[in-house]
Amino acid sequence: MRGFAETCERIAATSKKLEKTAIVAEYLRTLAAPEAAIAAVFLSGRPFPLWEETTLQVGGSSLWRMVQEISGKTDHALREAYRKLGDLGAVAGAVLPPRESSLTLTATESFFRQIAAARGPAAKLALVREMLTQCTPLEAKYVVKIITGDLRIGLKESLVEEAIAKAYGSTLPGLQRANMLLGDLGETLKLAEAQKLGEARMRLFHPLGFMLASPAESAEEALSYFENALVEDKYDGIRAQAHCANGAARLFSRTRDDITESFPELPPVLASLAGDLILDGEIVAWNFADSGQALPFTALQQRLGRKKVSDKLIAEVPVAYLVFDILYANGELCIDKPLRERAEILRKALAAERIPVPHSFHQAQGLLAFGDNEPVALERLLRAPAFQASSATELDGLFEAARARGNEGLMIKDPASPYTPGRRGKSWLKMKRELATLDVVVTAVEYGHGKRIGMLSDYTFAVWEEERLVNIGKAYSGLTDAEIAQMTEWFLAHVIEDQGIRLVVEPKVVLEVAFNNMMLSDRHESGYALRFPRIVRIREDKLPEEADTIERVREIYEKQKA
Ligand code: AMP
Repeated sequence: MRGFAETCERIAATSKKLEKTAIVAEYLRTLAAPEAAIAAVFLSGRPFPLWEETTLQVGGSSLWRMVQEISGKTDHALREAYRKLGDLGAVAGAVLPPRESSLTLTATESFFRQIAAARGPAAKLALVREMLTQCTPLEAKYVVKIITGDLRIGLKESLVEEAIAKAYGSTLPGLQRANMLLGDLGETLKLAEAQKLGEARMRLFHPLGFMLASPAESAEEALSYFENALVEDKYDGIRAQAHCANGAARLFSRTRDDITESFPELPPVLASLAGDLILDGEIVAWNFADSGQALPFTALQQRLGRKKVSDKLIAEVPVAYLVFDILYANGELCIDKPLRERAEILRKALAAERIPVPHSFHQAQGLLAFGDNEPVALERLLRAPAFQASSATELDGLFEAARARGNEGLMIKDPASPYTPGRRGKSWLKMKRELATLDVVVTAVEYGHGKRIGMLSDYTFAVWEEERLVNIGKAYSGLTDAEIAQMTEWFLAHVIEDQGIRLVVEPKVVLEVAFNNMMLSDRHESGYALRFPRIVRIREDKLPEEADTIERVREIYEKQKA
């Protein structure tokens, strides 16, 4: 691990991307392929390849206590170090006692596997201790960073891909494609090393990246990017990618978690589809009885975050999966095909059984983009109807109709665009009612007053400025008492620094906040403040990396000024 840690230090020391990839490429070349494969996965900040979905489940606060115990430092000294260094890995590097290095890459991987398999926090922590006592402080720094899931050396997975391509003389698109198909940087590296990238085959049941949308403030703006739009309702639920093959089906969330068990009524329907498929869509609470339309997000909320769902809840809050895209069909990846063609492939894939259009779409059929392509439903599986629009008037009409159906707004898509996993571009636009909301990360929490005494109900939140989170506001309202109680429990288990009335917490929770307007202010580090911020919802479906950036804040500010 010494070479790995030293390489990380060198990568962190430069902000130039080209230099970073050159350092990684040079390092990988010094290793045999099996070790280089492990290093590549670690360099992406993960203990295991993406497709495995294995997690270590070692909490930040117990890791903190472990570092404290091994170092023999007081809580105060550790907090001081944290304040200076900003992450627990760096703290470990600074406070752990000097030791001989005896931890190899292979041994580290094997420790991680044992930790993942160990049951209960005590057994896991015992293994962490064993591992930390076998490495130098510098190695410990990076071991801890991998455990907490963030190397913070400015190396995204895409840069590791570039470095692997450089190390073994592969083309970057070829390498990216293999990694996407396999969901495994290590396996991809081995293929690159053997000059066999072309042999990578789609591994189903590991999530591909989701295509993301950019906000559009008006119909006119939306049509400035492409003239003819394919338009769907923006359903207010949670995004899910379905993998279906050989009579089995699994669902993945945007955070790439397997959420199949939370929606036990969906897999049987998905599994009954013919062929191997990867579908993209939204799970919504659905009114099957009367209106055949989506229920508000608050209804679906009761179903979220549960591993086991009772029959009662399934009956009370029925869900439907509204499918709007297809990424893979019967041996072929279709993401490079234009949306127009994917829609046709999707139509065929879902055409096996037809049932009538949802009632809520009866009035709207004249505008459907695919004439013979009525929304198809296999009980709980629905084809999200697509419309065509080429004028602002048409878009505004569709927007009003979508709102009347209880949906959030519109998704406006370029029919000529490929599906770009993990990327936010202007090929998919979202149009919502509020002028703007921000997705922010909670960085600190405080105890509330009055009936919220004893509850962590005041949240300070931040947006990204490059690799750094900068605070932009504070919100107190918007969540239910039950949510606040649940959040309080989570925050207490993820405290990084106890400042008395204020607790600095692990920056993991994403909130969507609405506000009346935005102003310049030096009260917060971002240089902006929000007027009347309120929490719209907890975005359990978003990773902290997906929260908004300071550029988006500037954009909203400039628009508002105009
Ligand atoms: P937002 O979460 O506000 O960034 O908006 C993007 C999200 O809208 C996607 O991730 C989906 O979960 C959701 N969505 C709802 N309906 C659609 C649709 N028809 N097409 C694409 N995304 C949709």
